[in-house]
Amino acid sequence: MRPIIPFVHQLPQHEVQQWCDSLGELLPGCDIRPFVQLSEAEKALASVAVVANPAPADVAQLPHLQWVHSVWAGVEGMMASLAHMPFEIVRLTDPHLAKTMAEAVLAWSLYLHRGMPQYRQQQSASQWQPQPYCDAHERHIVVLGLGLLGQQSALRLVDNGFRVSGWSRSEKHLDGVACYAGESALIDLIAQADIIVNLLPLTPSTQGLMDQAFFQQLKAGASLINFGRGATLIEADLLAALDQGQLTHAVLDVFDQEPLPETSALWRHSGITVLPHISAPTSVTTASRIVADNIQRYLTQATIPPSVDKSQGY
Ligand code: NAP
Repeated sequence: MRPIIPFVHQLPQHEVQQWCDSLGELLPGCDIRPFVQLSEAEKALASVAVVANPAPADVAQLPHLQWVHSVWAGVEGMMASLAHMPFEIVRLTDPHLAKTMAEAVLAWSLYLHRGMPQYRQQQSASQWQPQPYCDAHERHIVVLGLGLLGQQSALRLVDNGFRVSGWSRSEKHLDGVACYAGESALIDLIAQADIIVNLLPLTPSTQGLMDQAFFQQLKAGASLINFGRGATLIEADLLAALDQGQLTHAVLDVFDQEPLPETSALWRHSGITVLPHISAPTSVTTASRIVADNIQRYLTQATIPPSVDKSQGY
């Protein structure tokens, strides 16, 4: 009998079909089946499941799970709802996703670097006003989080001539990037940044990291790109920092509440560019290949890929 791999999700039906078709093609020896189609006996057999925003009550009905493979990179939702369950959580680590994110980081860094928000405002006031040009190597971009996405993004910025620093929990060595680690290094580093790019995961230690005290340290004219998670910053403190001129502009792709409610003040603030969580969408094609390879390796060699550190939350 082919091993049954449950697909546990809260996704629209067309997306479920896409994932199941794509994984089914790559794993012809397995039966990739949406959770709702499993019998009780089949649920009891599953030792690995593929998950996409799974309902904890569904996952709890798979008593013999050794691990779950998420099709997404972020895991804070699962940390909150599944971390107490006795199986490993493996997230998506996809080089293609890192490339897509690096492209977005470069695009929006250039948007800020070349003063596009300001020219947009000038145009709406029919104002012909060239601003002074600053060379890329004089622009200091600080990337918070040097994981798969942060490293690729930092290197892409270096390739484009920016002066780049990065910050992570443990020390890193990256060509052309000044790397700093640990809480004590953060304040000095952000005080020298022209653009801050957040690519930290949301964990108990990063939640609310960008608060009033954080924004007060920024140098005049600094801007922010938040592509990590919304709750890493405190929205009220961000708005205050913009209003008080501690921050010039913020490009936000992620929010505490998504979709961003129509009533949110973030939509209407002239110092904010709102994006609908599009900086690095998962590619079903490349992600399926990675998930399928990991499952194949588990089935043939009994190896589970590196999993999330539940004590750190990422
Ligand atoms: P990752 O590989 O897990 O890297 C996380 C990085 O953050 C690591 O460098 C880690 O340090 C650092 N870090 C974590 N906690 C820290 C702390 N308390 N202080 C300092 N550094 C800390 O994650 P990733 O794959 O690069 O993804 C990063 C995040 O991007 C995801 O968690 C997700 O939230 C977000 N994301 C957004 C989108 C989007 O479309 N907007 C798409 C995908 C992902 P160490 O290296 O020392 O462990």
